[in-house]
Amino acid sequence: MAIQLEDRPQWHLPDVLEPGSPLPKIPCLCEPNNYDKEGFFDFPTRQGWFFDSEGSSGPQRINRDEVPSSAEKGAFLQSWLFFGMMYEVLRLLDVEVDLEDCVVRNQDGTRRCITTYPLRKTFANCIQRGKTRSRIPRGDALTNIAKILRRVDSTIRRYSDTLSPRSWRLSDALSLDTVLSILILGESLLNVTRLAMPPPENDQSILLGVGFFWARNPLEQRMRGSGWCISTTTMLHALLDASGLYYASRLRLSTHSVQQSHSNCTPQQCFANHVDESTYQTQHVEQCRGCEHISIDVEKVAEVIGQGKTPIVSINYLDADSDQPDIQLEVITSAPYVAISHVWAQGLGNARANSLPRCQLTKIKRMVSGIHPMSHMHSTSELGVWMDTLCIPVAPHLKPLRKLSIARLEETYRNADQILVVDKDLMSASCSASRIEKATRLLCSAWMRRLWTYQEAVVSNLHPNCEKLQLQFSDGPVTFHSLCVDPISSCHSEKAINSLLLALPLTGSVSFRLSTLSRALRYRTTSRQSDEAICLTAVLGHDISRVIATDNTGERMAIFYSFIDTVPAGIIFRNVPRLQIDGYRWAPLSFLQQTAQIAVAQGLDAPRDAHGVYVTFPALLFLSIGPPKNIGNHFVLGEDPENPTVHLASAGAKIGRTDEEWRRVVRGWEEFDRVVLGSGEIALILNPEPASPHALVSVLRKGPDGTRYCRFLCLAETSAVHAASLSVCGRVAIEKIDAGTTWCVG
Ligand SMILES: [Zn+2]
Ligand SMILES: [Zn+2]
Repeated sequence: MAIQLEDRPQWHLPDVLEPGSPLPKIPCLCEPNNYDKEGFFDFPTRQGWFFDSEGSSGPQRINRDEVPSSAEKGAFLQSWLFFGMMYEVLRLLDVEVDLEDCVVRNQDGTRRCITTYPLRKTFANCIQRGKTRSRIPRGDALTNIAKILRRVDSTIRRYSDTLSPRSWRLSDALSLDTVLSILILGESLLNVTRLAMPPPENDQSILLGVGFFWARNPLEQRMRGSGWCISTTTMLHALLDASGLYYASRLRLSTHSVQQSHSNCTPQQCFANHVDESTYQTQHVEQCRGCEHISIDVEKVAEVIGQGKTPIVSINYLDADSDQPDIQLEVITSAPYVAISHVWAQGLGNARANSLPRCQLTKIKRMVSGIHPMSHMHSTSELGVWMDTLCIPVAPHLKPLRKLSIARLEETYRNADQILVVDKDLMSASCSASRIEKATRLLCSAWMRRLWTYQEAVVSNLHPNCEKLQLQFSDGPVTFHSLCVDPISSCHSEKAINSLLLALPLTGSVSFRLSTLSRALRYRTTSRQSDEAICLTAVLGHDISRVIATDNTGERMAIFYSFIDTVPAGIIFRNVPRLQIDGYRWAPLSFLQQTAQIAVAQGLDAPRDAHGVYVTFPALLFLSIGPPKNIGNHFVLGEDPENPTVHLASAGAKIGRTDEEWRRVVRGWEEFDRVVLGSGEIALILNPEPASPHALVSVLRKGPDGTRYCRFLCLAETSAVHAASLSVCGRVAIEKIDAGTTWCVG
């Protein structure tokens, strides 16, 4: 029997060094050895339970005269789904566990709580055995593990994701933490299985689709209750698994607390870090009660920029022995420097002057002195500093130089010896925290959610393995690279680390890079929408000065697209707001705050020029269009107008919950009909995925090579014709155009 010390770790997951709350105790609702080890699937029957995983009534006694209490149901479920799953999966991995090791008991032998800590060693054993075992195919074991995990997943989902008010719910018998303990154990077992039974001996495709996919994790609700931003929890839910979300929920983050309000944020967008320059306040360090601002010599900065060079700041102590030494900022050129990458909303910016409080400069000097120059040639001297707040002139009379500095940002970061990320949530933790804690913090940080910091990070990615990117923690810097090496843990899928890597663009074709960009920017925001085109252009390494020549957001985006000669062809089918500029009506207005990734790399590439993108898909050409009975009734299409086969409708919203939402839906339908009726020669370019929307275009002209030049109108959905549609819909005669035709969508 395991008598436990109070401070013994309870979880097999890595510890959190800076937790926001104590680890919840998972109640042990049953005697662990109630699980009889006679097989997973028949366990309910052997124990006298009937549990229909497709039904809605929850666990029942086979003997209907007995009405089980919630406590009895809870004990049965934990016995089966937690202890049973653990025992059987590990047995299939050739390891026998003593289930009694997973309970913590009081002095008198009563059960206090569950512990999964001993599994750390068990998991390591499993993987070790997997490596040394002879090469016998173990397909059966893998199939059986997959079956068990699928059953646990479907049972949990059936009885917790359900929206039906009549369905029994898992929460009637198990607390959220208890359910999470099952999910997390399941994910860990899946992870260990993958590592212990690697291909080629084992066909891991058996495990495809196995996982614990909760549509709505109640943990998100709990996190929001303690101050987390809804856009962060939504992002984490999409990027991480239950273990990753649980791990994140345990972190103490100063920017996700009840002090900083995220009450106006939406699932797509966090507004807490938006900056209003007219009210912006530079902040002092936390302990400072107020100190004076120290300015840089702005004329000297201007002179250096005017010479085409990068102004670098040397922060010098005038009286190094004093407690609060005086600081002088010196502008130098051609010295190795650290470029600081920070989130303006966290107080290190200044909208009125090129100055910072002395306390902040002292802190920056201390941080920079912790960074060793990459090149040994400079190893004795301290690195200089480049920081936008000091080095980009703000004075109105220097506006041309300001624009020039912004145009050169990419170069400034590229030429830096290193880039230092300064973010409050990283700086509130020690660099001795586990790799997964540091990675999760970074993923949740404001720094990861801003547009400008993305550009700054991308430049560092050009250097092999992001070695230039340093993250500042409370007690020193850590390289980004060190978080990403060897991302294999026996008990944690480490999806946070994967997500970090995917949030940086990868090298490849232009079209591929556009896809990675769109993935990387999904969760980012900026205070000024018109900045997006600048960053995108810089990231792809094109001439920013052409973009900043105009202030119009749409025009800037069109200029950005004008640098790209290939895009993923599927982009014309994505459901996004688009530019309203001829030649660019196919182009998404923004890559930021998207519910889905808008450019997907798989599939075909499409060339692009000033006329539009050139795609080759099959299409339906509309020969004649009859109006619907009432506007909003849409259309039916067919080669024989008497027997139409396809129903065509707008791809917008289908239902509304409130009257106002309904009115908007109907307006959308009416607008769609007007577009179809009033746009001249029309064609529907067919999406290779028939269940997804197609692109409706108006054909402008046919080129000598047969290319049809057209203008993007909107997305449209098709379905089989319903008899009721025939009397109300407008009739359209069509001609099928085969896949060989090229459409230039502009
Ligand atoms: Zn927020
Ligand atoms: Zn201060």
